[in-house]
Amino acid sequence: MRLEHDALIVGAGGAGLWAAVELAKAGVDAAVLTKMYPTRSHTGAAQGGVCAALGNLEEDHWEWHMYDTIKGGDYLVDQDAAEILAREAIETVIELEHMGLPFNRTSEGKIDQRRFGGHTRNFGEGPVRRSCFAADRTGHMILQTLYQQAIKHGVRFYDEYHVVDLLSEGGELGSGGRAAGVVAYRIADGGLHTIRAKAVMLATGGFGRMFRITSNAWSLTGDGVALAYRHGVPMQDMEFYQFHPTGIVGIGILLSEAARGEGGILLNGEGERFMERYAPTMKDLAPRDMVSRSIYQEIRAGRGIDGKDYVYLDVRHLGRKVIEEKLPDITDFARVYQGVEPITEPVPIQPTAHYAMGGIPTDVLTRVTRDAAGTIVPGLYAAGETACVSVHGANRLGTNSLVDLLVFGRRAGRQIALDVPGVGMPDVAPNADASAAAEIEALRGSAGRESAPRIRRELADVMMDNVGVYRDEGLLTAALNEVRELRGRYAKVGVDDKGTVFNTDLLEARELGYLLDCAETTVVAALARKESRGAHAREDFPERDDAHFLTHSLATRAEGGPTLTYKPVTITKFQPKPRTY
Ligand SMILES: Cc1cc2nc3c(=O)[nH]c(=O)nc-3n(C[C@H](O)[C@H](O)[C@H](O)COP(=O)(O)OP(=O)(O)OC[C@H]3O[C@@H](n4cnc5c(N)ncnc54)[C@H](O)[C@@H]3O)c2cc1C
Repeated sequence: MRLEHDALIVGAGGAGLWAAVELAKAGVDAAVLTKMYPTRSHTGAAQGGVCAALGNLEEDHWEWHMYDTIKGGDYLVDQDAAEILAREAIETVIELEHMGLPFNRTSEGKIDQRRFGGHTRNFGEGPVRRSCFAADRTGHMILQTLYQQAIKHGVRFYDEYHVVDLLSEGGELGSGGRAAGVVAYRIADGGLHTIRAKAVMLATGGFGRMFRITSNAWSLTGDGVALAYRHGVPMQDMEFYQFHPTGIVGIGILLSEAARGEGGILLNGEGERFMERYAPTMKDLAPRDMVSRSIYQEIRAGRGIDGKDYVYLDVRHLGRKVIEEKLPDITDFARVYQGVEPITEPVPIQPTAHYAMGGIPTDVLTRVTRDAAGTIVPGLYAAGETACVSVHGANRLGTNSLVDLLVFGRRAGRQIALDVPGVGMPDVAPNADASAAAEIEALRGSAGRESAPRIRRELADVMMDNVGVYRDEGLLTAALNEVRELRGRYAKVGVDDKGTVFNTDLLEARELGYLLDCAETTVVAALARKESRGAHAREDFPERDDAHFLTHSLATRAEGGPTLTYKPVTITKFQPKPRTY
């Protein structure tokens, strides 16, 4: 079936939904496609908070938030974007409140705020209360609130439509063409649908599933990033992947940093509060990259719990009331998944793959760019975790992702509303879905004996073991060889389910292809970056090297593997300095 809308948004997480609401309010015919029911998007799993310098409990300023974001990102942040993030955070959080989001309140009725890693008062003097929250289910509340608004404003949803291709007019997206729509696979019956549009926004979230131990939902497979890449759009800063310090041991389910924001501490096997040694001022509220490295240092020194590969998160001293009122969900996770009672016992934790700082390059108006000069891909937009604008640089601060969705999701909606009236409905060939159809039929009909779940597991293992918190040339080279070998085997994948109705076997095999693209660019970019910056820690190059590497990487698809180019970082107010906490 052929359909058309003025604007198509791929993804119904916080970024996609806010853009949709903005478009509907502007009277633009916008539709949202989502491979899951909208309220199952990963935004709904976000726990700890959304950041804005409201100053409700103590003095705070957007300039402090901007500075913390830049320093937290180890100076790889584009400072014009960080300024927008910090300024617009305030109005977007208040707008959310007016939409009806039930934030926790202070005794005076203001939005309550808590501490989070790397957020400081007066340019680094000590922790500040900046993260607004609804218990430890902030993302759930944001997603529900925005979904209600979208329904109220009449946004059209294509639920359980899996986008499998991007269409363009006048050439490929990476070489001058403009976005012209998408091809989507309806999960219910396997039908392919070509939908034309004057603007396409990618808001497909992250790709944490390329790692074995991750906080990310099963569905986070980098679809948008990989689809754009396959049409010539580069992936930016892929070597920067965040490991969150406090995942449940072995399975990676997140225990929010809010636990430390409320006063929780980390303990090693000797019962010592070791973060005091690594970050004397911020201690347990140092940024995530530092805390994750510190945990590994303790484990390597034999100071894990019982000499094993984990440490403790201890919240016992907070008392039952604080724990039950402010951290109810994560305490339940510890009870259910670990059989540990956080009110009376310390909780075993280890770092878990959590957040993609890299993704689809965009300008501050969320328009996708395709080269180091910032050339725009007409009609294509991206925001949220899938995008790299770049406000997080080499390491994202806690609660800065939800606010990124709000600020840049809203910007995307506003920008598309400005742009579409000047554009005609693009021409799309009648057989525009031919290549996606052929790929899907080839996969469904394949007689190959390779198993997609097995390749996915091996990929997650090698990424975890070789491309994790610490990296070096040897580990990365071995990883690259293995990822390429897995890619070879992927070409011979067969699926057991040959049907058309809810064929998750087929779709997961397709998603594995996206994960392989993301993994390959991650390893190639990590090998080339011979320095340590933010989440990218090379043991063979332990220092940050601003002379050579104060640049964003761009990985562009090519025969035989991605090629790398670099683009300058935008620096406005804060010159790079050594990073201590
Ligand atoms: C457990 C957890 C806790 C977190 N806690 C916090 C926190 O407290 N504060 C904070 O700031 N950040 C937090 N984060 C990070 C933050 O939640 C995410 O970065 C953010 O929610 C991503 O939102 P998004 O809109 O980009 O995408 P998502 O919410 O991930 O949504 C992606 C959407 O894309 C759709 N999609 C994907 N592929 C396709 C396709 N091929 N076709 C059609 N649709 C597709 C999906 O259906 C979904 O609707 C947390 C993350 C996790 C995993």
